[in-house]
Amino acid sequence: MYRSAIYEEPLLNEIVTSKKEEINSITTIPDSLQRKKNIDIPNLDETQIVRHFHRLSQMNYGIDSGIYPLGSCTMKYNPKLCEEIASWGKFTNIHPCQDISTIQGNLQILFELERMLCEITGMDFFSLQPAAGAHGEFLGMLLTRAYHEDKNQGSRDEVILPDTSHGTNPASVSMAGYKLIEIPSNKDGTVDLKVLEESLSEKTACFMLTNPNTLGIFESDILKISKLVHDAGALLYYDGANINAIMGKARPGDMGFDIVHLNLHKTFATPHGGGGPGSGPIGVKMKLEKFLPIPRIGRTKEGKYIFDYDAPESIGKIRAYYGNFSVLLKAYTYILMMGRNGLKEASEIAVLNSNYMKKKILDSKLYEMPYKDIRKHEFVLSCEKLKQEKGIRAMDIAKRLLDYGFHPPTIYFPLIVKEALMIEPTETESKNDIDKYVEALIKIANEDPVLVKNAPNNTSVKRVDEVSASKNPILTWKMI
Ligand SMILES: *Cc1c(COP(=O)(O)O)cnc(C)c1O
Repeated sequence: MYRSAIYEEPLLNEIVTSKKEEINSITTIPDSLQRKKNIDIPNLDETQIVRHFHRLSQMNYGIDSGIYPLGSCTMKYNPKLCEEIASWGKFTNIHPCQDISTIQGNLQILFELERMLCEITGMDFFSLQPAAGAHGEFLGMLLTRAYHEDKNQGSRDEVILPDTSHGTNPASVSMAGYKLIEIPSNKDGTVDLKVLEESLSEKTACFMLTNPNTLGIFESDILKISKLVHDAGALLYYDGANINAIMGKARPGDMGFDIVHLNLHKTFATPHGGGGPGSGPIGVKMKLEKFLPIPRIGRTKEGKYIFDYDAPESIGKIRAYYGNFSVLLKAYTYILMMGRNGLKEASEIAVLNSNYMKKKILDSKLYEMPYKDIRKHEFVLSCEKLKQEKGIRAMDIAKRLLDYGFHPPTIYFPLIVKEALMIEPTETESKNDIDKYVEALIKIANEDPVLVKNAPNNTSVKRVDEVSASKNPILTWKMI
């Protein structure tokens, strides 16, 4: 009965004919706009298209496929609930030009997120505008300039960085028009206080530091560093992309930092690696508040949330509208889900995983680790011994890991470690997954060097010519 009612032929024909007319009436393109020649693209049916894209997606590797211990990137698993909430129509169907009376709830979220980030970092005020870590750094440099100019110290034109600093730090400093002073680390892999003291002068605008640094080592002299920098009249900037290492345990604000940026897309539940969107909000101490970008999110006595443009000394705007809202929303959701103890536990497990993994690899005696032993969320190995003994380089190990179905770690960074493998397991990997990765690293070190040097062997794309790829990139592909 059911079948025949639906598939009765005249009825079906009627539906098809009427729908076709309806569709034609909507989609008819005027003659003048119609293509004169057929477009030269492959003629594929739905099955073939679906299979093509599905296969491409299977060639991709992400944190949902397996461990992704890319150092200095915090590639951790992001709860799907954050994605779900960020995709609610109530959030996605709003327009940035809507009257603020209609988006009070959204503004409340941003207002509260700013307060939460203040508490996590120990800063007094936050701006959610920057769209990435590097963007936050750049804003930090603009704030630094505004601060010194306000004190008639505009001649301070140098920014000091340690030689372990992340590549975006020197780039942001230069983009903001400052002179870069790079200082060498001491034998522990931390800031050399004597060299720092000698480099500080009435020309210094800022010292930019990440703590733990990119070797994964905590700068235990941070209070002395802070005093030296402030005594010289300079500001102390915290690259907080690595806050995953210390959340709930220590706060940059308490260490003496004046400016902080965070990478919400690393620590606070936005998947990254595909190029965005990201978020690099910036926090400051009271003395820098008046320079923060406009608009600020304010709250009136009556409890109404507003965009506050009344900031005559603000450096202005650094971005259209008010930040990447969906990323901010995911961070807000994540922080609420985790709570104070959850965030602290995430950092504790991130550090435990990193130290467990490091110890297991070092016990094999196949890899070495220069500088201090105890690490935070990440550690940097050297394959120099393997290079000397078997000719196997960090790049070869990274490529061979692909054959084992793993994402490689960051390689050749920081620059002060020879043949560096920079590993950050994060708190979301199980002991089992960490053990398998360590096993693969040990196996590779014992393999025939020819096999390792020719890797990857099992992937759809073999070893690419990286020099040509960066020197002579082909950015468009023309279909013939
Ligand atoms: C990732 C990272 C940055 C840069 O962040 P982006 O969002 O990629 O611009 C800066 N510093 C450190 C230490 C980082 O790990």
